[in-house]
Amino acid sequence: MNLMGIDVKHKEYLGGRRHYNDIELWKDVTEEQWNDWIWQLTNTIKTLDDLKKVVNLTPDEEEGVRISTQTIPLNITPYYASLMNPDDPRCPIRLQSVPLSAEMNKTRYDLEDPLHEDEDSPVPGLTHRYPDRVLFLVTNQCSMYCRYCTRRRFQVRLAWVFPRSSLTGRLNISGTLRK
Ligand code: SF4
Repeated sequence: MNLMGIDVKHKEYLGGRRHYNDIELWKDVTEEQWNDWIWQLTNTIKTLDDLKKVVNLTPDEEEGVRISTQTIPLNITPYYASLMNPDDPRCPIRLQSVPLSAEMNKTRYDLEDPLHEDEDSPVPGLTHRYPDRVLFLVTNQCSMYCRYCTRRRFQVRLAWVFPRSSLTGRLNISGTLRK
């Protein structure tokens, strides 16, 4: 790797983090594949067995992965997973992406739509809260699912995208909203 004219070995640049080839799951992955966003999106970690090859899971994390089938799925890009500390369950990147069993706990204070985005949605897939901007929802798929997601009501097993025609309609509406 060449950074600003200086030849740096991958491991030095990573500052102690693991190189992806040192992780069993990606030992044969080329640099070209690793740096290809399509490869990253098509090789996300979705199973307990694969995740176990990247980090040493606690029993609670294992249980969390099992019950994630009832909520938003496990889905972690290889790059993001490679940033996780394999031995520290309090690693912030790991906490963001690896489910815990407590995720299924619900209290009467929990809300389906905690940011009240649906109230500000004049048509499906468009949120209009501030006068000078709108938010478009084009799909319910994310490259990685954050365990704290406030839009988990959209994360269902069946993937969908809004058709292009619907996008055009919403663009027209957003133009009207700005006037
Ligand atoms: S909608 Fe945002 S917070 Fe939720 S999983 Fe996707 S990226 Fe994470």
